[in-house]
Parts: sequence; C-alpha cells; structure tokens
Amino acid sequence: KPRILSGVQPTGNLHLGNYLGAIRNWVEMQSQYDNYFCVVDLHAITAPHNPATLAENTYAIAALYLACGIDLQYSTIFVQSHVSAHAELAWLLNCITPMNWLTDMIQFKEKALKQGENVGVGLLDYPVLMAADILLYNADKVPVGEDQKQHLELTRDIVDRFNHQFGKGEKVLKSPQPLIRKEGARVMSLTDGTKKMSKSDPSEQSRINILDSPEDISKKIRKCKTDTMPGLTFDDPERPECQNLLTLYMLLSGKTKDEVAAECADMRWGDFKKLLTETTVNALKPIQDKYHEIMAEQSYLESILREGRQKAEVVAQQTLRDVKIALGYSLPL
Ligand code: ATP
Ligand code: MG
Repeated sequence: KPRILSGVQPTGNLHLGNYLGAIRNWVEMQSQYDNYFCVVDLHAITAPHNPATLAENTYAIAALYLACGIDLQYSTIFVQSHVSAHAELAWLLNCITPMNWLTDMIQFKEKALKQGENVGVGLLDYPVLMAADILLYNADKVPVGEDQKQHLELTRDIVDRFNHQFGKGEKVLKSPQPLIRKEGARVMSLTDGTKKMSKSDPSEQSRINILDSPEDISKKIRKCKTDTMPGLTFDDPERPECQNLLTLYMLLSGKTKDEVAAECADMRWGDFKKLLTETTVNALKPIQDKYHEIMAEQSYLESILREGRQKAEVVAQQTLRDVKIALGYSLPL
C-alpha cells in the first residue's frame, strides 16, 4: 500500500480547520494506505510555548486522532520527539537547504511578523523539520490543508537537490505528493472570512474547537462575523464569511453543495446560525464522547504511543542510515 504521513502540532485545541482540512480526510482514506500520523511536538516550540502543558496537549492530540476515527489496524500514531531521527535528519537537510528558500515561505513571513524581534531560528527552519518528518517514512502522499502546500513544494525541492547532489543516480529520498481536498482545505476564521482559522490566533472567538461545549459553540456562532446582504449564497467573492459558514454547514451535515444552496438561499442569518449550531454540536458530540473515554484511561493511550514509536523508529532509522551513507558519514561500529 502507498504510505501516508501527516501530523498536527500540539499548540492548542484542535479546531474545525484541523478536523475538516486534515484529520477527517485521514480517517476517510486510511484503509487505502499505510498511514503514519504523528503529533509534531518539535514543531510546537517554534512559537513561544508553555512547558507546563506541552506533554498534556501532546496526549490530547493523540487521543483526538483516535476519537476522530483513526484506526490502528491501518494507522500508526506516535509522537515526533519520541523518534530522535526527526531532529537528526532535519539537521542533515538544513545543511543542503539554501537559506533563501526558507525566508521566502509565506507561513514564516506571517508568523515571524507576529513574533517580532524574538523570532527564533526554529520558526525559519520549520519547513525543513517538516520535510524530515515526511522523508523519514518515504511517504507517497501527505494529506494537509491548503496552507501547507508551499511547504510540500519545498520538501520536493529538497528531495531533488539531495538526490541530485548525493544520490549517485539513486533516489535516496522519495518525493511526496500533497493531498489537498478541495472542500474544507481552508476553513476560515469566524471573525474574519479572509483569514484561516488557526490554533495560534489569540482570539478564542475566531475558531470552533473540536472539544468546545454546546454552549461555547452556540455563543461563538451567534457572535461570528456575517454581512447584511439578503439571502445566503456560495461563491460570492464579496461574501467570504457567507462562503465559509455555508461550507462548514455543508461539510458537517454531509449534504451536497446544491442541497445546501437550495435549503439556505432565502434564510436569514439568525435561522441559519441556529441550524449551523445544531449541526456542529451533533457532528462533534460522538468525537467528544470518545475523546473523554480515551483520556480516562491514560495507560491505554501510553501503550498505543509506545507501540507507535517502536514501529516508526524502525522505518525512520533505516532512512536516516541511507541518508548518512549517501552523505559519506562513517557509521558507528
Ligand atoms: P498553528 O496556528 O499553531 O500553526 P494550525 O491551526 O495551523 O496551528 P497545525 O497544527 O499547524 O494547525 O496544522 C495541522 C493540520 O491542519 C495541517 O494539515 C494544516 O494544513 C491543517 N489546517 C490548519 N488550519 C487549517 C484551516 N483553517 N483549514 C484547513 N486546514 C487547516
Ligand atoms: Mg499551522
């Protein structure tokens, strides 16, 4: 089976963007692939973080993977920092990656702006570590949201450069394909329909978290940004919030675009918001129940992550070894 790798950072609560743009697609496709899903905690410290909650958040994300339907029959779940090959390969790739490839990255520019003068080298290096994550597992496909497309292109550039310089005609590293679904690939903020929904947005009101209570969901949808035009329609560039909210309703209800367009064409915002609230609460309820069940039994989660680490380690070490040989390293005797 072709191999998939993807991950989420434990930088906060998972939101609808992470779910609809990434995890839900992992779940739907998992039986067709050999999947590796990691919690990318090394990436999580590229922005200021709280040491007191990092481990807890890491476990919570792993539990959410399971709660969303990741099935261990098809998928391996592990924590990035538990497999030291990630950091090691990132270093090796750093040394063959031109600096200007990284300073050109949109996410770096946006996040660096927010961090101001204290921006760390790690934020610049984020895409190289992500390349290492993917390449260690020889992933064929990487299911992500639209915002990660540029990082996938960079990964492919690194592969070409590495194989060209050090492969001696062999493809030591495998070039991955991004897998970006059209619908849900870019869920927008509730406070600004032109900005993506993000864990790192300081405003809680900007996102719906998978674990939000029905009251919070209701409050956030009630207060979310809308517009004053009559009726509700898709695909009007003047109405980014309308586009986003209708898309959320479509994805969470499982209805088609035509069905939603017909159902909501003459609705008023107040009625639509009630409908969206109810649909969101119902869609998230089974995930939340499952999540609490898993979190109540810490040792179960620990054993899954231990097994995941062992499986990941074998694959990762083999790639790391191939890369080191290609680079001319002596191997420990
Ligand atoms: P941060 O703000 O800390 O970067 P994030 O919300 O962007 O957090 P990540 O952990 O960086 O979340 O991304 C995990 C996955 O979720 C990636 O595949 C990413 O493309 C996807 N994703 C993130 N935000 C959205 C969004 N608004 N719509 C669709 N997919 C998204
Ligand atoms: Mg992100």
